[in-house]
Amino acid sequence: MEDKIVVLKFGGSSVADNERLKLVADKVIEFKKKYKKIVVILSAQGKTTDKLIHEAKELADDPNKREMAALVSTGEQVSIAKLSILLNNLGHKAISLTGWQAGIKSSIANKCAIIENINIFRIQKELAEEKIVIVAGFQGVNSNNDISTLGRGGSDTTAVAVAAALEADKCIIFSDVDGVYTADPNKVKDAKKLKSISYKEMIDISNEGAKVLHDRSIKIGEKYNIPIITKSTFNEQEGTEVNKTIEENTVKSVIKKDVSKISIVGEGIIRNTKLIENVINILEKSEAEVLRIEILDGKLSIIFKEIVDDLLLQKFHNISF
Ligand code: ADP
Ligand code: ASP
Ligand code: MG
Repeated sequence: MEDKIVVLKFGGSSVADNERLKLVADKVIEFKKKYKKIVVILSAQGKTTDKLIHEAKELADDPNKREMAALVSTGEQVSIAKLSILLNNLGHKAISLTGWQAGIKSSIANKCAIIENINIFRIQKELAEEKIVIVAGFQGVNSNNDISTLGRGGSDTTAVAVAAALEADKCIIFSDVDGVYTADPNKVKDAKKLKSISYKEMIDISNEGAKVLHDRSIKIGEKYNIPIITKSTFNEQEGTEVNKTIEENTVKSVIKKDVSKISIVGEGIIRNTKLIENVINILEKSEAEVLRIEILDGKLSIIFKEIVDDLLLQKFHNISF
């Protein structure tokens, strides 16, 4: 049995209903057989956060920000209590902790607050008692002792920050996709799964809209050198590891509203003449009108005047380096 701590995070679709929560419980129990110390971070169930925001907006055009944080943070509290009920019922010692119970101290903002520090005393105490510790994602407490939220998708950031504070071995982010792909696999067919990707590349593709990981979680992973593994809750596929050692060229595409942007991200791509030749070749053969080309450190982006067709996207996808 490994003595190291592992942090597991399950997103909204993974905890959407009781059936899925049972799958999550089974996964957690599997990990508990291998690792002595398990911390689980959960999101709200399914579309709960959207539903709560919508309901508040039915009550007020511009709902009070403090109360909004108090309202939307309840979603995660439901998930953690339910999973703990399940695990305890299955004979495993588990405890749920809200953000403040887990010592997650944030900046003053009610919305999009930043985690400033984590007092790990309580989590460690519960781990020492061999409990599975289940922490609410997306929330903290600010210096007024008010509840704060970390911005949409912020449970990933809770997970990696908790992993960093506990000096965990790794942080595994479970969701409805089995890893990081060269583009959103729900939008681009033939998108390829990456075995690994560097923090830097992952930050770039997340800034461009790949919401598979919250961008701030990757920055924390990089700063504290916590390997982040993205995997599916629903299959046993290998997943993608985000870490510092491996630099890999990746292609990804993002469709914007009335323009399209295709970016190629990777260390040293600007010096890769074969790649540049291939890009020019594709562009020359295409009818799509290029608005501009941006070249930044480790990133080449082509912005088109229009929404490009799938064929062109696939060509960029299959580009060889
Ligand atoms: P969770 O609710 O578990 O936090 P998210 O919905 O935030 O999950 O993130 C998973 C989704 O991210 C996938 O369903 C997928 O559509 C989307 N996604 C966007 N870009 C990528 C990418 N490059 N690789 C994998 N998934 C991506
Ligand atoms: N429940 C929050 C959201 O929907 C946080 C998260 O899921 O990461 O944005
Ligand atoms: Mg997410």
